[in-house]
Amino acid sequence: MRTRFGPQGADYAEKFARIVGAEGVLSGPAAERAYDCDAYSVDRSSPALVLLPRSTNEVREIVAACLESNIPYTARGAGTGLSGGALPALGGLVISTKKLTQILEIDLANRAMRAQCGVTNKKLSDAVRQDGLHFAPDPSSQTVSTLGGNIGENAGGPHTLKYGVTAPHVLGVTMVTPEAEVLELGGKVAGLAGSELIGLIVGSEGTLGIVTEAWVRLTVVPTHVETALIAFPSVRQATETVSEIIAGGIIPCALELIDHGILGALRAAFNLQYPEGTQAMLLVECDNGGQGVAGTTADEVRSDIRRISELCERNGAIHVRVAKDEAERAKLWEARKKGVGAMGRLAPSVVTHDGVIPRSRLPEMLDFVYAVAAKHNVGVANIFHAGDGNLHPCFYFDDRDPQQVERVVGAGEAVIRKCIELGGSVSGEHGIGVEKLDLMALMFTEDDLALQQRAKTVFNRGELCNPCKVLPNQKSCVEHRKRWRGVAW
Ligand SMILES: Cc1cc2nc3c(=O)[nH]c(=O)nc-3n(C[C@H](O)[C@H](O)[C@H](O)COP(=O)(O)OP(=O)(O)OC[C@H]3O[C@@H](n4cnc5c(N)ncnc54)[C@H](O)[C@@H]3O)c2cc1C
Repeated sequence: MRTRFGPQGADYAEKFARIVGAEGVLSGPAAERAYDCDAYSVDRSSPALVLLPRSTNEVREIVAACLESNIPYTARGAGTGLSGGALPALGGLVISTKKLTQILEIDLANRAMRAQCGVTNKKLSDAVRQDGLHFAPDPSSQTVSTLGGNIGENAGGPHTLKYGVTAPHVLGVTMVTPEAEVLELGGKVAGLAGSELIGLIVGSEGTLGIVTEAWVRLTVVPTHVETALIAFPSVRQATETVSEIIAGGIIPCALELIDHGILGALRAAFNLQYPEGTQAMLLVECDNGGQGVAGTTADEVRSDIRRISELCERNGAIHVRVAKDEAERAKLWEARKKGVGAMGRLAPSVVTHDGVIPRSRLPEMLDFVYAVAAKHNVGVANIFHAGDGNLHPCFYFDDRDPQQVERVVGAGEAVIRKCIELGGSVSGEHGIGVEKLDLMALMFTEDDLALQQRAKTVFNRGELCNPCKVLPNQKSCVEHRKRWRGVAW
């Protein structure tokens, strides 16, 4: 099944150029290297060709040609995925959405927008900000990650705690199915025909078809926001405070934790300084935006942040800084926004893990993460959506050294096993991809997995559309899985 095209490569390039134009076909070593992984760089597999379609119809024609010639294909947005979803595990085609970047319709009265799937997350919000609206899901990759990728992974973000992940913000999709048909589900208002099936498509990591356009919900931008950055002398005091804030009856719109590992990287990379003795920071934000919260006043938002600040001080915070204006707010967010990038100072590679636990178990979980990193002899730093109990231990290492890769994979598995043991989940927002195929069995029984396989079959009966992702035990993926597991490194 591994499709490198061999001697017919040139014929195939010509065949696809008739669909997307010669400039829409990329091949050769540079393309193979550039598209051989996403931001999970532990696993790599090169495509034979990369195609850049310009319309839904071109995507449909590509899929029809793949069916005819038995060529596997994988959709790719910006390639910022963190579990290997966009890597072409069996070679074949990468279908990039780089040229599908039009916002097609804005309907302010119905608070909905239709856009092509290659539009970046931030561009969706920028298009309606002057109207007091935005697309609420805000992954930290939002300046580059695409609508199609956000739908593929059911992306979350710092404001998921209040606004939810991508799924409730998608009203309709246009999708090219693995049978090369164009399927319309839902539309500009909730509840249209097919809208119940959108929940299956969102989060399916491109395994059920290629979304080419979507209708998204637009949410009211808050008119009042309060942001605080709070320094703690220990990670434990910070994690204990997280569940106390929520137990105290306040749901902030963001509640993020940044540990000493990230703070060290920020110091090294950007010379950002924090109070002496800081081991962890909480970034807390409260606002009056969203649906159904009309009537929340600026005073009420201010009172929430004051109560949170007092609670943090009672719990031993060494410094509480509340932003006085928009410029200071941006400054306080700097640590969160630059934290992952700063890790480039620590090592050549980072695997950002993703698991969920009940937030009340954060203190023991963080102790476990540091112990696991020490046991496996890898570096770790943490920056995550603490309010959701959505962990992101970032293991840093050198992916050119197979032994370090083995140790990082081992440490990651131990973390996910612990998440499940504590009553959590195998993934919060980064998906399964290839990274967590074998870990699915920790959370789901054989019957559960068989049911998911049957649900997949409703859309995708073959093995061409993004093979070797999400569900374990796909017949043609043995070779790929051995390589991923380190057996053939
Ligand atoms: C620095 C950094 C910060 C991040 N922060 C967050 C965060 O806060 N929250 C979060 O949830 N994630 C985060 N991520 C992960 C990632 O950005 C998200 O998963 C994002 O949604 C991926 O979008 P993309 O366009 O890069 O998709 P890709 O990586 O290209 O693809 C992701 C998956 O979607 C599929 N796909 C892509 N386009 C389509 C399409 N049109 N139709 C069907 N399937 C498609 C692919 O096949 C793949 O399985 C972060 C990543 C980085 C590198």
